[in-house]
Amino acid sequence: MYSQHVLTPGKEIRIGDISPDGKEFYADRKKAEKEFKDVRDELISLQNKFYADGRHKLLVVLQAMDAGGKDSTIRKVFKGVNPQGVAVASFKAPSKNELAHDFLWRIHQKVPPAGMIGVFNRSHYEDVLVVRVDQLVPEAVWRPRYQMINDFERLLTSTGTTILKFFLHISKDEQRQRFQDRLDDPEKHWKFDSADLEKRKKWETYQDAFEEMLNECTTEHAPWFVIPANQKWYRNLAITKAIVDTIKQIGPEYPPEESGLEQLVVE
Ligand code: AMP
Ligand code: MG
Repeated sequence: MYSQHVLTPGKEIRIGDISPDGKEFYADRKKAEKEFKDVRDELISLQNKFYADGRHKLLVVLQAMDAGGKDSTIRKVFKGVNPQGVAVASFKAPSKNELAHDFLWRIHQKVPPAGMIGVFNRSHYEDVLVVRVDQLVPEAVWRPRYQMINDFERLLTSTGTTILKFFLHISKDEQRQRFQDRLDDPEKHWKFDSADLEKRKKWETYQDAFEEMLNECTTEHAPWFVIPANQKWYRNLAITKAIVDTIKQIGPEYPPEESGLEQLVVE
């Protein structure tokens, strides 16, 4: 199901050809919601084993336009997992100190150590997205970053990290509705940032930057998924399933137990 959303290295996509509409991939919302709960229960028990095993590392990268659903994906997909084994890192505009280093410096510090699932809410990809669109550095600086990112991710996968990268794909109209919801609901005002409206004006330029990022940084070791994300229920199901199947492939095991436990009685 979600496997149809993974990109193939060397096979270029056009983002405009990919539907953001989850309904095209899954007709029955009620069934999807039920399936999602079951798959999330599976994630909870697999993550328990993953943490206990303590040998593997999983990195989940989330990128999207504003209001694309990164925060709510994290909230929904990881609801109920042992918080001790999952670390979320949110990357905002870099500090002066971060800018004084290479762009991967702050990222590398947040990659998951053994036993952990790391979730990136935005990531090193901002350095070829907002940085490119807002011309924060010249092209001669951002363009070589695709290769640097591929090399960096190769370093991670070669040293035992599995990487899952999800682009949450929404339509321009869906973004409009979500911004409007934020304005209409006082409980959501804190999420509204008028700077987001300026970014919305550059929608096409952003889509071009996402498209090139997806094509340039889909590798054998770390391909991108383009997740249709207009429907949250489909997005949650597709992402959770991809994570669950990936952990199953990794195959975490409980560590070997001490011998003679059967005879022990606690007095
Ligand atoms: P939010 O995710 O809504 O909290 O917003 C975080 C902001 O930080 C977004 O506007 C991002 O574009 C911005 N941001 C994240 N990484 C970078 C970066 N490397 N350079 C410039 N801006 C960034
Ligand atoms: Mg924001």
